[in-house]
Amino acid sequence: MGAVSCRQRQHFRVPTPRKQCGNIQGPLARGWKSLWCGVGTIRSGLEELWELQGHQEPLRPAPLLLEKTLSEWPVPQFISLFLPEFPMRPVRRQQQLKILGLVAKGSFGTVLKVLDCAQKAVFALKVVPKVKVLQRDTLRQCKEEVSIQRQINHPFIHSLGDSWQGKRHLFIMCSYYCTDLYSLWAAVGCFPEASVRLFAAELVLVLCYLHDLGIIHRDVKMENILLDDRGHLKLTDFGLSRHLPQGARAYTICGTLQYMAPEVLSGGPYNHSADWWSLGVLLFSLATGKFPVAAERDHVTMLARVTHCESKVPASVNQELSLLLHELLCQNPLHRLRYLHHFQVHPFFRGVAFDPELLQKQPVDFIMETEDTQPSPLEPIPFKDFDYDLESFLVHSISASPPLL
Ligand code: ADP
Ligand code: MG
Repeated sequence: MGAVSCRQRQHFRVPTPRKQCGNIQGPLARGWKSLWCGVGTIRSGLEELWELQGHQEPLRPAPLLLEKTLSEWPVPQFISLFLPEFPMRPVRRQQQLKILGLVAKGSFGTVLKVLDCAQKAVFALKVVPKVKVLQRDTLRQCKEEVSIQRQINHPFIHSLGDSWQGKRHLFIMCSYYCTDLYSLWAAVGCFPEASVRLFAAELVLVLCYLHDLGIIHRDVKMENILLDDRGHLKLTDFGLSRHLPQGARAYTICGTLQYMAPEVLSGGPYNHSADWWSLGVLLFSLATGKFPVAAERDHVTMLARVTHCESKVPASVNQELSLLLHELLCQNPLHRLRYLHHFQVHPFFRGVAFDPELLQKQPVDFIMETEDTQPSPLEPIPFKDFDYDLESFLVHSISASPPLL
């Protein structure tokens, strides 16, 4: 598999201003070209998709793709490429959706808040243009994101609601949460020790669960942790995750620079221990209000900073927590804390039951202050033609309004 070959692949996210969640990836645009070659001389759906994106104008109304399309043979390549993780849906399914607003726009996709009129419930909808997936050679990764999310089921992991494809976009729908840990951190600065302990215990359970299933997340960070209305967390964004059996190693340089372990920054080999480093960065930031190492512009400079300056835990942080941070932010992955029993006997977690049900019962008071009180910026917008022209839709309808979170 490409990601574990010695061929160096870079696939990382750099810290960017909030809601421009940058997903900077290596210049790996070979995928669409090779796919295109396989199409033959007739004009393919893929080619059409590519041209539409390249020229932008004029856009013609997209033909309606009804269920019937799937019974036809051959299925156009711009659809079959994304099957079975992204099935086609009847158009009426999309017509039940109304857009309430923009949640976040990253370099890759857009997250919208939508109302499902049939279910009378609000959801978050991640929309990814197919052409970007092909341009960036991330088809496999994109399918992996959905298949991993379908496989997992844990109280502290955000579960997938539905996924499907339109002609030009992939859609991933899940429950909507009104805040994420980054927004909360940006608002409160640093957290009291009891909250850090609770978040830490919940994340320890999540990472142990994923690693036991042979899944490495590779992008554990505050922005990827949503909070439910009681303040308990849900890890999300499996966009960089992959199956990595115990004992196997990965080599792809990927993640978010400030959270990436030294062995990831250096191009591997690395394994699940890399997620524990990211947890160390996250807990350090929650406890102190700042990152252990400031962001650098690229992974080479970041690696130099991370390897040569020991991150100093401020004296204000209690001893047990300080010990935990040192044991997570340990340069040698073999010496890093990484098994549940390491945490169960750790002095910082004295008295903590590593049981999801019990943890969920613990109250988190401050979350009540950050409820989604902002009004929706617009009247709900019908979803009907959304797949056809997302970009101009965003420009004209939503981008003028502030993000919801
Ligand atoms: P990306 O690959 O662009 O990072 P994410 O899945 O992390 O995609 O979503 C980007 C941002 O959108 C998150 O950091 C979070 O703020 C917001 N977001 C994602 N899913 C939800 C959700 N279910 N409810 C509310 N906000 C969400
Ligand atoms: Mg994310």
